[in-house]
Amino acid sequence: MPVFFITADHVQDDTVRIEGPLLHHLRSSLRCQVGEEVWLGDEAKQRYRVQIVDINRRVLSGRILQRQRMPSPTSPTLTIGQALLKGERMDWVIQKASELGAASLIPLVSRQVIARPPADRLVPQQQRWQRIALEAAQQAERWEVPVVHTTCEATEFFAGQPVHTVSLILTERGDGRSLASVALPSGPEGRVAIAVGPEGGWTKEERGNALHCGFTPVTLGTRILRAETATVVALAILQSRLGELG
Ligand code: SAM
Repeated sequence: MPVFFITADHVQDDTVRIEGPLLHHLRSSLRCQVGEEVWLGDEAKQRYRVQIVDINRRVLSGRILQRQRMPSPTSPTLTIGQALLKGERMDWVIQKASELGAASLIPLVSRQVIARPPADRLVPQQQRWQRIALEAAQQAERWEVPVVHTTCEATEFFAGQPVHTVSLILTERGDGRSLASVALPSGPEGRVAIAVGPEGGWTKEERGNALHCGFTPVTLGTRILRAETATVVALAILQSRLGELG
């Protein structure tokens, strides 16, 4: 059963009260009944095993049977700068990156992005992708929800990485380093940022700009992967190297 995210203000001593969309989902979609148990997690990285005491169209009341604290993180945080992809592909890659442990997702506009969003679509688009990330994190039983930022220019992403971040740019047809051997930070204070291009790929200038900003070009081999495939493969390799995949 997924771990559903609530906020700490839903918890009062040993009881939980849930209203709004999560109540609707539990009551109408999952048909949860009195006596059943659900797992809830909050932004304070606390997790609660809750037995439903009452559920109606206005509120779910539950009794906390067990509390858990998030284990101390052992791995660096992963940030994905994903150039915008057409239609469902962007939804799909946000969902997969959320399942695979990305901490933040930044949609990027780059020169060869096919579908540039109009300014008035940026916020609704970010809200929709944030919901996708939330649902994926719940289903993956993650302790935290990845943060989906509003779309920004790739050049901003390249220039905006905090000091000491290991910044990698996935470059197709390039002479990049292998992701299997590039040096990674160890421990939870470390940060890794990965930039993935759009269907049309990076331009020479964008690659040069990224390198100028300290990004290391990285290859995933000679096959040209779809962008969304490249993101999943890169996250899988990184998370495996960081011991996050068992
Ligand atoms: N249109 C480009 C071309 O034909 O050269 C291909 C772009 S590819 C579909 C989209 C993005 O996925 C690339 O910009 C890169 O970030 C990533 N990617 C795909 N294959 C890759 C590979 N073998 N190594 C590294 N990155 C790759």
